[in-house]
Amino acid sequence: MFTLNIKTWKLLPSTPPCFSNRNLPSSSSTFTTVTMQNPPPSKPRRKSSYGTSRKSILRKSFKQEQVTFTAPFSDEPHVAIIGGGISGLLCAIYLDKRGVRSTVFDTGIHGLGGRLGTRVIDANDKHSLIFDHAAQFFTVNDSSFAQLVNAWVDKGLVKEWLGTVGELHNGGEFLPILPSTPRYIATNGMRFLADSLLSETRLVNVERPCWISKLEPFNGMWHLSENGKPCGKFDAIVIAHNGKCANRLLMTSGLPLVAKQMKRLELSSIWALLAAFEDPLPFPGNTGVPFEGAFVRGIDSVSWMGNNTKKLLAPQNDGPHCWTFLSTATYGKQNKVPQENIPTVTSSRVKEGMLEGVEAALGLSKGSLPKPSYTKLQLWGAALPTNTPGVPCIFDPFGRAGICGDWLLGSNIEAAALSGIALANHIADYIQSPGTDPGEFAVGLNQEFQPLEGHDIGQFPGLRSEEKMNEAQVYELAK
Ligand SMILES: Cc1cc2nc3c(=O)[nH]c(=O)nc-3n(C[C@H](O)[C@H](O)[C@H](O)COP(=O)(O)OP(=O)(O)OC[C@H]3O[C@@H](n4cnc5c(N)ncnc54)[C@H](O)[C@@H]3O)c2cc1C
Repeated sequence: MFTLNIKTWKLLPSTPPCFSNRNLPSSSSTFTTVTMQNPPPSKPRRKSSYGTSRKSILRKSFKQEQVTFTAPFSDEPHVAIIGGGISGLLCAIYLDKRGVRSTVFDTGIHGLGGRLGTRVIDANDKHSLIFDHAAQFFTVNDSSFAQLVNAWVDKGLVKEWLGTVGELHNGGEFLPILPSTPRYIATNGMRFLADSLLSETRLVNVERPCWISKLEPFNGMWHLSENGKPCGKFDAIVIAHNGKCANRLLMTSGLPLVAKQMKRLELSSIWALLAAFEDPLPFPGNTGVPFEGAFVRGIDSVSWMGNNTKKLLAPQNDGPHCWTFLSTATYGKQNKVPQENIPTVTSSRVKEGMLEGVEAALGLSKGSLPKPSYTKLQLWGAALPTNTPGVPCIFDPFGRAGICGDWLLGSNIEAAALSGIALANHIADYIQSPGTDPGEFAVGLNQEFQPLEGHDIGQFPGLRSEEKMNEAQVYELAK
C-alpha cells in the first residue's frame, strides 16, 4: 500500500546535485539556466526530426541545460497537463479541488482517456459494435482510490463486473478465479468514463485533439506549441504520458533530470485484435464459452480474451459478440513494427496468429473457430511499463515540471490514478507555499528503477504476482 503524502517519502536528497547553482542572479528574463557539470561546447542545433534515434535522444537529454524559474508564480497559476489519460485527468481534477487552474492537452481524436480506450463501430445502428480495446477492468487496493471509485459507482459511471473471469489454459481448460477484491468496469466502456470525469470541474480546460510538440521556457513561463502553433503559456507543466513521444518532448526542454528518469522507463508492446462474431464462441462440449473474460495461459499469441457484449451491453442484446483479444508482451515484441504504420503483411500474420491462438486456447480443432464478421487490429507500441521508480510522481521544483502516470507506481489504472492525484496535491502544495525552499519539493528525480511484476495487461491482485512467487519458491526448492 502506498501513501499519497509525498512529504513523508524520504527518497531524495532535498537538493539534487545539479541544482547547486540555482541561486544565480536572474537575467533580464525571469528564469535562469544553470549549466550542468560538463557543458557541451555549444553547436548550432540541428532541427530534430520525428525519426530521431534513441541514441541521439539520450545524448541530447543528458547534455541539455537545466532551466530554473526564479520569479514568483503568477496570481492565478495555470498548469499545462500534457496527456488526458486517467493520470492526467485526475491530476486536473485534484488541482481543481485545490483551486489551481489547468489545461489538459490530449491527442485523442474520438475522446479522452489514452489507454482507457473504447471503440464503437456504427454507433447509430441497433447492432453497433463496442470494444474496450486497452484496459479491460480494474481493481481497487488503496482507500483513497476506493472512495473515488465509490463516487463513480454512485454516479453510474462504473459498476462491479459480476461476469465470470478466470484462467483459460491451452486446450480449453477453464478455471474461474474468485475475485479477492471486486472487479470494476466502466458502465459504457472505458473511454466514456474518461470523457465524463471533468464534468464537475470549474477550473479545467481541455484542448483535444492536440499534440504538444514543443515546450519552451521563456520569461518565467512555459510556452507550449503544436507544430509551431502556440498553445499558451503556463506556470508549470505536467507530463502525463510516456514513451517515445515524451522522450522527444523532453529532449531539449531544459529538464535533464526529468528527461533522464523518463528515459529509464521500459515499455512492452501489445497487439489488440477486436473481433465480432455472429454467434457465441463455441467451447468443447458444444456449449458457448463459460466466461466473460479470461487470462490465457500457454499460448504465445494471446494473453487475454474478453467479451465486451456480455460485459457492457444488456443481456437481451442479440447483436454480434464483440471480443477483445490481447497478445502477450513476448508476441508484441516478436512482431513489433511502427504502430502508426503497420505493414499489411505484419497485420495479416498477427491477425492469423492471434485467431489461431484463440482457437487453441478454446480447445477447438484446427480451422473450426468461426470467421469473425468484423476485425480491427491495433498495436499498443507503448503498452505497459516493465520497470518503475516506485514513487507516486516525479517533480522538478526548479523547472516547475512534473510527471505522473501508471509507471511511477505500477502498471494499472489504480497506479495511474494515484499518481495523478499525488502530483496534483504536490504541485498545489508547492504553489501555495511561497517562500519555502524549492529543493524540499523535489521528488523522484534520482530514484532508481526496479523491475515490475505483473500480468501482460497489468497488475491484478491474486494473479501473476502469486504465480511468480510460486515459481521463485519452486526454484528455491529445486536448488
Ligand atoms: C492493452 C492494454 C490492456 C490493459 N489492460 C488493463 C486492465 O485490464 N486493467 C488495468 O488496470 N490496466 C490495464 N492497462 C493499463 C492501463 O490502461 C494504464 O495503466 C492506464 O490507462 C495508464 O494511464 P496514464 O494516464 O498513465 O497514461 P495514458 O492512458 O497512456 O495517457 C496518456 C495520454 O497522453 C496523450 N499524449 C501523448 N503524447 C501527447 C502529446 N505530445 N500531446 C498531447 N497528448 C499526448 C496520449 O494520447 C494519451 O491519451 C492496460 C493497458 C494496455 C495497453
